[in-house]
Amino acid sequence: MPKLPKLARLDHEYVWHPFTQMRDWVKSEPIVISEAKGATLRDHHGKEYLDGNSSIWTNIHGHNHPVLNRALRKQSQKIAHSSALGFANEPAALLAEQLVRSARITTRHKDFQNPRLQKVFYSDDGSTALEVAVKLSYQSTLRNRPKTKPRFLTIDGAYHGDTVGAVSIGHIDLFHKAYSGLLFKSDKVMAPYCYRCPFNRAKPERADARDYRKCNWECIGKVEQTFNKADRAKSPFTAFSYEPLMQGAAGMIPQPKGWLHRVAQLTRGHNCHLIADEVMTGFGRCNDSSKLYASHQEGVQPDFLCLAKGLSGGYLPMAATLTTLSVFDSFLGEYEEFKTFFHGHSYFGNQLGSAVSLASMKLLAQKKSQSQRDSLRKNLRRDLKALWNLPQIGDIRQVGNVVGIELVKDWRTRKPFDLREQVGIRVCNAMAKRGVLTRPIGSVIAIMPPYCTTRAQVRKMISALYDAVAESLPPA
Ligand code: PMP
Repeated sequence: MPKLPKLARLDHEYVWHPFTQMRDWVKSEPIVISEAKGATLRDHHGKEYLDGNSSIWTNIHGHNHPVLNRALRKQSQKIAHSSALGFANEPAALLAEQLVRSARITTRHKDFQNPRLQKVFYSDDGSTALEVAVKLSYQSTLRNRPKTKPRFLTIDGAYHGDTVGAVSIGHIDLFHKAYSGLLFKSDKVMAPYCYRCPFNRAKPERADARDYRKCNWECIGKVEQTFNKADRAKSPFTAFSYEPLMQGAAGMIPQPKGWLHRVAQLTRGHNCHLIADEVMTGFGRCNDSSKLYASHQEGVQPDFLCLAKGLSGGYLPMAATLTTLSVFDSFLGEYEEFKTFFHGHSYFGNQLGSAVSLASMKLLAQKKSQSQRDSLRKNLRRDLKALWNLPQIGDIRQVGNVVGIELVKDWRTRKPFDLREQVGIRVCNAMAKRGVLTRPIGSVIAIMPPYCTTRAQVRKMISALYDAVAESLPPA
C-alpha cells in the first residue's frame, strides 16, 4: 500500500471501527469524510460521494442544513448541556411536547383500542431507546401483574441494538451467538419475508414478492398459535417488539400491507404491550408524507415508541422512548416505596441535541419536506425498475424512501449467495468507486438517501448500483 495520508494513518493506528473486521480494514486506505452538503459527502482528497444510506440511516434533511446549523449555533451560545438529574431545561421540555403531539393518532378501530402516548424518556441512541422500553415494560408488567413473569416476543431476524437488553430481544443468530451467555431469553415469530416465505407458493417474478405472493396469511396464523400456546402454558407474552413496515438490519424485510394491523390486533387481544422500534422507520422514512411514524400507517399506536437516528436530523446522538400514562403511573408511589424508574444517562435531554431535534421536527412539518419525501419516493420507484434487467437482482423492496435490493445467484431460482462470498461488500465497494456510498446487509444493498436527494442524484445512485452489480457479479 502506498504511504497513507496522516488522518488515514491515525485511523489505522488508533480507531477500532464498529461491526468491522479490523484485519481487513487496515488493508486499504479508508475514505476519510471531511465535509458535506445536502446529499453529497466529500473526503479529505476532495472527492465527492452521494450519501446512499443517509450516513447509516440517520440523516434526513441533508447535511450541513442551514436551519439545523442555526439551531445548534443559537443553543450553543446559551448552554450545551446541563444535567436532567434534578433540573429541567428549555429545549428538552419543548421537544417532549412536540414529540407527544407528533405521535398522536386519530385512527379508531372496532378491533382494538389504541393507547395515548404522553410521556417522553430521553436517551442517547437507538439501543438505549429500546433498552428503556424493555425495562419499562418489564417493571410495569411486574407491578400490575405480579404473578406474571414478563416475556418478550419479537420477530425473526430482528435487530434492536447492541446493549444487552436490546440484543436479547433481537434475533440475528450471528450476534446472539457471540453474547449468548449474557442475554435473557426472548421468543420469536416468523418474519413476513414474502420473498423467502415457505408458505408463498408463487414462482419468482420480476416484481416485489409482496405484490405477487400466493398465500393465506399463514404467517399471521403462526403468530396466533404462538400467543395461544404461551397462554395455554400459563406463561403469556407481555411485550411484542417490532419494526413497523420494514425490518431494517434484518435485511430490509418489508411487511405486506395489513400484516402489522393483524399482529397488533392479536397482541392487544392477549393483553400484551407493543414496543415499536421506529429507530429506522420514524420521521417519515417509510410513510406517505402525511405521517411521521410507520406504525400509524397501519393504524397502530404502540405502548412504547422508540425513536433515535433521524430524531436529531442526523446531527447528534439523541433518542426518546415515548410511553403511556398507564406505564408512567405504575412507577408512582411514596419515596420509600422505591418505585422510581432507576435508569438514566448523563446526557439525558441534552440541550444541543434537543434544540437540533426541535428544528428538525419543524422542518419535517413544512410542505417543502413533505414534497421532498414524495418526490424521493417516486424517483426511487421509477429508477429502480431498470435493475430488474440484471439476473442477480432477486427482489427489490421499497417502503417509502427505504429500499432493499436482494442479490441472488439467479433470480429464477432465488438461490442465495453464501455470506462468505461477501457479494454485498463487493458491490458496495464498486459503488464507492463510482461515487456512491452505502453499506450492505449480507447480500442486500440498502438505499436510503436524505430527503433532499434530487432526481439526478437518485439516477446516479441507481446507475452506480446497476454498474457495480454488473461488474462485480458476473451472471451464473
Ligand atoms: N433499532 C433499529 C431498527 C436499528 O436500525 C438500529 C441501528 N441500526 C438500532 C435499533 C440501534 O440504534 P443505535 O445504533 O443508534 O444504537
